[in-house]
Amino acid sequence: MKIPMVDLKLQLDSLRREIDERFASVLDTTQFILGPSGKSLEIEVAEYFGVEYALGVASGTDALHLALLSSGVGPGDEVITTPFTFIATAEAICHAGARPVFVDIEPDTFNIDPELIEEAITEHTRAVLPVHLYGQAAEMDSIVRICRKHNLKLIEDCAQSFGADFEGKKTGTFGDAGCFSFFPSKNLGCFGDGGMVITDDKNVADEIKVLSNHGSRERYHHSVLGFNSRLDEIQAAVLLVKMKHIDAYNAKRRENAQIYNTELGDLDVITPLEAEGRTHIYNQYTIKTDKRDIINRTLTEADISSAIHYPVPLHKQEVFSEICSGLTLPVAERTASQVLSLPMYPELAETQIIEICRTIAKAV
Ligand SMILES: *Cc1c(COP(=O)(O)O)cnc(C)c1O
Repeated sequence: MKIPMVDLKLQLDSLRREIDERFASVLDTTQFILGPSGKSLEIEVAEYFGVEYALGVASGTDALHLALLSSGVGPGDEVITTPFTFIATAEAICHAGARPVFVDIEPDTFNIDPELIEEAITEHTRAVLPVHLYGQAAEMDSIVRICRKHNLKLIEDCAQSFGADFEGKKTGTFGDAGCFSFFPSKNLGCFGDGGMVITDDKNVADEIKVLSNHGSRERYHHSVLGFNSRLDEIQAAVLLVKMKHIDAYNAKRRENAQIYNTELGDLDVITPLEAEGRTHIYNQYTIKTDKRDIINRTLTEADISSAIHYPVPLHKQEVFSEICSGLTLPVAERTASQVLSLPMYPELAETQIIEICRTIAKAV
């Protein structure tokens, strides 16, 4: 593709020397799991968010799974979440033994509609799990208020929102735990799988640490049934280099989004709404259009990538056909038929954005 969705090569080239140096020091220690780089990264991430604890784990999915378990979510519980997200959000709920309860989304921010949360609460509801989709915070004022009022745990899926904020407060710091993914294509990505949980709760932090390392506090002594879920030193080394640039990368994404907004302004497509008081970091730049097929096809012909995040809402997925039988969530369903994500990364050039938008103009 002439213009890919994400160009990891450009960023790698600019950081290559520093990353090579960090790799060399990891190789010199030959301590590849649970070593000094992981420790340093946890300290830096905790500082960045102003929280007490940050815990490296093997993926964003594991971050969610372990955060739910350590918050006491288990069999018989219900967790309220959005149907318009990547499958991992709901997978984690199910693997914790609980049941996802999907409520519909806001049509303009694509995030869970807070007005619909309270009516979904039952005696089994244990937690609310909002996703800050595409890099824009969900409506956290209402969500925090509802969780406090009903004594529910609040776990945030920040896999797409590292550095985004809601009224000046960073996503991941509103509830019991914030869960991050460092999958390579995320706005803060490593060179494999990786994830992190942040929290101010000592018990949650302790439990994640033990669960992620085979249920042991002391080597070969296992107090609970745990998992193998650690962030390795090679990934931590990459992330230590990229962490220094994350605010600048996010600022570049925002600039690129502005260029898109201007160039697409007169066309028959809906550009992403940035809700008041939220800093959108555009992990994805996603438009809405009823002409998706023709735009998609025209872009592909011009060798420009685009992607649909996500074509099928979770309550319509085969895997959930039993628990969601008969469930209709009209906004999520309609949105899934309209969204189209365009190439977005900090190094994307203005000339490329203009070329993408001209191609879209031709299509519509
Ligand atoms: C990427 C993603 C995850 C899962 O992260 P992995 O690191 O791939 O396990 C979870 N939730 C959302 C919204 C994501 O985009």
